[in-house]
Amino acid sequence: MNRRNRRASGPGRRLTLTPADIRRVTSCPDCGSEVESIELEPSVYEAVVRHDDTCPWFAAFQRDRGYGVRFW
Ligand SMILES: [Zn+2]
Repeated sequence: MNRRNRRASGPGRRLTLTPADIRRVTSCPDCGSEVESIELEPSVYEAVVRHDDTCPWFAAFQRDRGYGVRFW
């Protein structure tokens, strides 16, 4: 989403994201992850990211139990 779209969706307006928008900000940069997303209610989204078995980010996440791993 660019600045114009963000301003157009300003305070009091609903933010509408497409699955492509969500995939762009949630997909893993270290593997060919798959992303599924649903809109729970207007402007509230849930995304599930499935990493490849060989993903180094996910391996570090599991090794450190989710602590000390960057999320961006
Ligand atoms: Zn990954």
